[in-house]
Amino acid sequence: MSKKITIAIDGHSSTGKSTAAKQLAVKLQYVYVDTGAMYRAVSYYALSHKLIESGILDSKKLVESLSDVKISFKYNKETDSADVYLDNENIEKQIRTLEISSIVSKVAEISEVRAQLVEQQKAMGAKKGIVMDGRDIGSVVFPDAELKVFMTAVPEVRAQRRYAELLETGEDVSLDQVLKNVVERDHIDSTREDSPLVQLPEAKLLDTSDMSREEQFELLVSWAQEAIRNS
Ligand code: C5P
Repeated sequence: MSKKITIAIDGHSSTGKSTAAKQLAVKLQYVYVDTGAMYRAVSYYALSHKLIESGILDSKKLVESLSDVKISFKYNKETDSADVYLDNENIEKQIRTLEISSIVSKVAEISEVRAQLVEQQKAMGAKKGIVMDGRDIGSVVFPDAELKVFMTAVPEVRAQRRYAELLETGEDVSLDQVLKNVVERDHIDSTREDSPLVQLPEAKLLDTSDMSREEQFELLVSWAQEAIRNS
Protein backbone atom coordinates (compact mmCIF):
# COMPACT_ATOMS: atom_id res chain seq x y z
CA MET A 1 0.00 0.00 0.00
CA SER A 2 1.37 3.41 -0.89
CA LYS A 3 1.87 6.05 1.76
CA LYS A 4 -1.09 8.33 2.40
CA ILE A 5 -0.55 12.04 1.92
CA THR A 6 -2.49 15.27 2.50
CA ILE A 7 -3.81 17.19 -0.50
CA ALA A 8 -4.82 20.85 -0.10
CA ILE A 9 -6.86 22.47 -2.87
CA ASP A 10 -7.45 26.19 -2.59
CA GLY A 11 -8.59 28.81 -5.03
CA HIS A 12 -11.16 31.30 -6.22
CA SER A 13 -14.94 30.82 -5.95
CA SER A 14 -16.68 28.48 -8.38
CA THR A 15 -13.57 27.13 -10.04
CA GLY A 16 -14.83 23.55 -9.81
CA LYS A 17 -12.63 22.83 -6.78
CA SER A 18 -15.18 20.65 -5.03
CA THR A 19 -15.98 18.51 -8.06
CA ALA A 20 -12.31 17.96 -8.86
CA ALA A 21 -11.34 17.34 -5.24
CA LYS A 22 -14.18 14.87 -4.73
CA GLN A 23 -13.24 12.91 -7.87
CA LEU A 24 -9.60 12.83 -6.82
CA ALA A 25 -10.51 11.53 -3.37
CA VAL A 26 -12.60 8.72 -4.88
CA LYS A 27 -9.73 7.75 -7.20
CA LEU A 28 -7.20 7.66 -4.33
CA GLN A 29 -9.70 6.21 -1.83
CA TYR A 30 -9.09 9.21 0.40
CA VAL A 31 -11.51 11.18 2.56
CA TYR A 32 -12.85 14.35 0.93
CA VAL A 33 -13.79 17.45 2.94
CA ASP A 34 -15.52 20.51 1.47
CA THR A 35 -14.62 23.24 3.97
CA GLY A 36 -16.72 25.81 2.09
CA ALA A 37 -19.73 23.77 3.18
CA MET A 38 -18.73 24.33 6.81
CA TYR A 39 -18.59 28.14 6.41
CA ARG A 40 -21.89 27.92 4.55
CA ALA A 41 -23.37 25.90 7.44
CA VAL A 42 -22.39 28.60 9.95
CA SER A 43 -24.00 31.15 7.62
CA TYR A 44 -27.16 29.06 7.48
CA TYR A 45 -27.18 28.97 11.28
CA ALA A 46 -26.85 32.76 11.39
CA LEU A 47 -29.69 33.22 8.90
CA SER A 48 -32.04 30.76 10.55
CA HIS A 49 -31.38 32.24 14.02
CA LYS A 50 -32.13 35.72 12.70
CA LEU A 51 -28.60 36.95 13.28
CA ILE A 52 -28.73 38.57 9.86
CA GLU A 53 -31.32 41.28 9.35
CA SER A 54 -31.52 43.26 6.10
CA GLY A 55 -28.14 41.88 5.11
CA ILE A 56 -26.40 43.04 8.31
CA LEU A 57 -24.71 40.32 10.33
CA ASP A 58 -24.67 40.47 14.13
CA SER A 59 -21.12 39.12 14.49
CA LYS A 60 -21.10 39.51 18.27
CA LYS A 61 -24.17 37.31 18.75
CA LEU A 62 -22.87 34.78 16.25
CA VAL A 63 -19.59 34.49 18.14
CA GLU A 64 -21.49 34.07 21.42
CA SER A 65 -23.56 31.27 19.88
CA LEU A 66 -20.67 29.42 18.24
CA SER A 67 -20.57 26.62 20.82
CA ASP A 68 -24.13 25.72 19.68
CA VAL A 69 -23.12 25.37 16.05
CA LYS A 70 -22.63 21.63 15.55
CA ILE A 71 -21.53 20.77 12.03
CA SER A 72 -20.98 17.25 10.76
CA PHE A 73 -20.81 15.30 7.49
CA LYS A 74 -22.74 12.12 6.77
CA TYR A 75 -22.45 9.84 3.77
CA ASN A 76 -25.35 9.97 1.31
CA LYS A 77 -25.77 6.71 -0.62
CA GLU A 78 -27.76 8.32 -3.42
CA THR A 79 -25.16 10.95 -4.33
CA ASP A 80 -22.16 8.88 -3.21
CA SER A 81 -20.83 11.86 -1.29
CA ALA A 82 -21.07 13.45 2.15
CA ASP A 83 -23.87 15.85 3.05
CA VAL A 84 -23.40 18.58 5.60
CA TYR A 85 -25.54 18.59 8.75
CA LEU A 86 -26.31 21.24 11.32
CA ASP A 87 -27.22 19.27 14.47
CA ASN A 88 -29.39 16.55 12.95
CA GLU A 89 -30.67 18.55 10.00
CA ASN A 90 -29.39 17.79 6.52
CA ILE A 91 -28.75 21.27 5.08
CA GLU A 92 -26.86 20.26 1.94
CA LYS A 93 -29.42 21.88 -0.38
CA GLN A 94 -30.11 24.95 1.75
CA ILE A 95 -26.45 26.02 1.87
CA ARG A 96 -26.00 26.17 -1.91
CA THR A 97 -28.34 29.11 -2.55
CA LEU A 98 -27.27 32.56 -3.72
CA GLU A 99 -28.65 33.94 -0.44
CA ILE A 100 -26.06 31.95 1.51
CA SER A 101 -23.35 32.76 -1.06
CA SER A 102 -24.04 36.44 -0.55
CA ILE A 103 -23.32 36.33 3.21
CA VAL A 104 -20.81 33.53 3.63
CA SER A 105 -17.68 35.59 3.01
CA LYS A 106 -18.74 38.03 5.75
CA VAL A 107 -19.21 35.13 8.17
CA ALA A 108 -15.84 33.67 7.10
CA GLU A 109 -14.06 36.90 8.01
CA ILE A 110 -14.76 36.35 11.70
CA SER A 111 -11.64 34.96 13.43
CA GLU A 112 -13.59 33.04 16.07
CA VAL A 113 -15.57 31.25 13.36
CA ARG A 114 -12.37 30.37 11.53
CA ALA A 115 -10.65 29.11 14.68
CA GLN A 116 -13.51 26.73 15.47
CA LEU A 117 -13.73 25.34 11.93
CA VAL A 118 -9.97 25.08 11.42
CA GLU A 119 -9.69 23.01 14.61
CA GLN A 120 -12.30 20.55 13.29
CA GLN A 121 -10.61 20.44 9.88
CA LYS A 122 -7.21 19.66 11.39
CA ALA A 123 -8.74 16.82 13.37
CA MET A 124 -10.40 15.39 10.25
CA GLY A 125 -7.04 15.27 8.47
CA ALA A 126 -4.94 14.04 11.37
CA LYS A 127 -4.49 10.59 9.81
CA LYS A 128 -3.70 11.94 6.32
CA GLY A 129 -5.31 10.28 3.29
CA ILE A 130 -7.40 13.40 2.81
CA VAL A 131 -8.29 15.83 0.03
CA MET A 132 -9.58 19.09 1.48
CA ASP A 133 -10.69 22.11 -0.51
CA GLY A 134 -11.20 25.71 0.58
CA ARG A 135 -9.31 29.00 0.78
CA ASP A 136 -6.75 28.51 3.57
CA ILE A 137 -6.06 24.79 3.48
CA GLY A 138 -2.47 24.98 2.23
CA SER A 139 -1.67 28.13 4.20
CA VAL A 140 -3.33 27.50 7.58
CA VAL A 141 -5.04 24.12 7.98
CA PHE A 142 -2.34 21.88 6.49
CA PRO A 143 0.80 23.96 5.83
CA ASP A 144 2.75 20.68 5.57
CA ALA A 145 0.49 19.17 2.90
CA GLU A 146 2.52 17.12 0.41
CA LEU A 147 0.48 18.49 -2.49
CA LYS A 148 -0.96 22.00 -2.70
CA VAL A 149 -3.03 23.16 -5.65
CA PHE A 150 -4.35 26.63 -6.44
CA MET A 151 -7.36 26.62 -8.76
CA THR A 152 -8.58 29.59 -10.72
CA ALA A 153 -10.39 30.55 -13.94
CA VAL A 154 -11.55 33.83 -15.45
CA PRO A 155 -14.58 35.18 -13.52
CA GLU A 156 -16.96 34.99 -16.51
CA VAL A 157 -16.32 31.27 -16.96
CA ARG A 158 -16.77 30.62 -13.25
CA ALA A 159 -19.98 32.63 -13.09
CA GLN A 160 -21.39 30.82 -16.11
CA ARG A 161 -20.71 27.43 -14.51
CA ARG A 162 -22.24 28.42 -11.17
CA TYR A 163 -25.22 30.00 -12.93
CA ALA A 164 -25.93 26.74 -14.78
CA GLU A 165 -25.77 24.82 -11.49
CA LEU A 166 -28.15 27.22 -9.75
CA LEU A 167 -30.62 27.07 -12.64
CA GLU A 168 -30.59 23.29 -12.37
CA THR A 169 -31.61 23.50 -8.73
CA GLY A 170 -34.49 25.77 -9.71
CA GLU A 171 -33.09 29.06 -8.36
CA ASP A 172 -34.38 32.21 -9.99
CA VAL A 173 -31.15 34.17 -10.51
CA SER A 174 -29.48 36.10 -13.32
CA LEU A 175 -26.01 35.53 -14.68
CA ASP A 176 -25.14 39.07 -13.70
CA GLN A 177 -26.08 38.47 -10.05
CA VAL A 178 -23.93 35.34 -9.97
CA LEU A 179 -20.97 37.12 -11.57
CA LYS A 180 -21.21 39.95 -9.04
CA ASN A 181 -21.29 37.44 -6.19
CA VAL A 182 -18.27 35.52 -7.47
CA VAL A 183 -16.21 38.70 -7.88
CA GLU A 184 -17.28 40.09 -4.51
CA ARG A 185 -16.47 36.86 -2.66
CA ASP A 186 -13.03 36.68 -4.28
CA HIS A 187 -12.39 40.24 -3.16
CA ILE A 188 -13.47 39.69 0.46
CA ASP A 189 -11.71 36.30 0.66
CA SER A 190 -8.43 37.68 -0.70
CA THR A 191 -8.31 40.89 1.33
CA ARG A 192 -9.55 39.78 4.78
CA GLU A 193 -7.14 40.05 7.66
CA ASP A 194 -7.42 36.51 9.00
CA SER A 195 -6.23 33.74 6.63
CA PRO A 196 -6.76 35.47 3.31
CA LEU A 197 -6.82 33.45 0.12
CA VAL A 198 -3.28 33.49 -1.28
CA GLN A 199 -1.54 31.71 -4.08
CA LEU A 200 1.35 30.02 -2.29
CA PRO A 201 4.64 29.79 -4.21
CA GLU A 202 4.76 26.02 -3.67
CA ALA A 203 1.19 25.45 -4.92
CA LYS A 204 0.63 24.04 -8.39
CA LEU A 205 -1.50 26.36 -10.48
CA LEU A 206 -4.57 24.89 -12.15
CA ASP A 207 -6.29 27.41 -14.41
CA THR A 208 -9.48 25.73 -15.56
CA SER A 209 -10.67 28.52 -17.90
CA ASP A 210 -10.11 26.39 -20.99
CA MET A 211 -10.02 22.93 -19.49
CA SER A 212 -12.61 20.19 -19.45
CA ARG A 213 -13.35 18.36 -16.19
CA GLU A 214 -11.57 15.30 -17.60
CA GLU A 215 -8.41 17.29 -18.33
CA GLN A 216 -8.45 18.84 -14.85
CA PHE A 217 -8.89 15.43 -13.30
CA GLU A 218 -6.05 13.84 -15.29
CA LEU A 219 -3.65 16.59 -14.30
CA LEU A 220 -4.64 16.41 -10.64
CA VAL A 221 -4.19 12.64 -10.57
CA SER A 222 -0.72 12.93 -12.12
CA TRP A 223 0.29 15.56 -9.53
CA ALA A 224 -1.08 13.41 -6.71
CA GLN A 225 0.76 10.33 -7.92
CA GLU A 226 3.99 12.30 -8.15
CA ALA A 227 3.51 13.70 -4.64
CA ILE A 228 2.80 10.20 -3.28
CA ARG A 229 5.95 8.84 -4.95
CA ASN A 230 8.03 11.67 -3.49
CA SER A 231 6.61 11.41 0.03
O1 C5P B 1 -15.95 26.80 -1.38
P1 C5P B 1 -17.18 27.67 -1.29
O2 C5P B 1 -17.31 28.61 -2.45
O3 C5P B 1 -18.42 26.90 -1.02
O4 C5P B 1 -16.91 28.57 0.00
C1 C5P B 1 -17.83 29.53 0.42
C2 C5P B 1 -17.11 30.64 1.16
O5 C5P B 1 -16.60 30.15 2.41
C3 C5P B 1 -15.92 31.26 0.46
O6 C5P B 1 -16.29 32.28 -0.45
C4 C5P B 1 -15.12 31.82 1.65
O7 C5P B 1 -15.64 33.07 2.06
C5 C5P B 1 -15.41 30.82 2.75
N1 C5P B 1 -14.34 29.84 2.93
C6 C5P B 1 -13.23 30.21 3.67
N2 C5P B 1 -12.27 29.32 3.95
C7 C5P B 1 -12.36 28.06 3.51
C8 C5P B 1 -13.46 27.66 2.74
C9 C5P B 1 -14.44 28.59 2.45
O8 C5P B 1 -13.12 31.37 4.08
N3 C5P B 1 -11.42 27.18 3.83
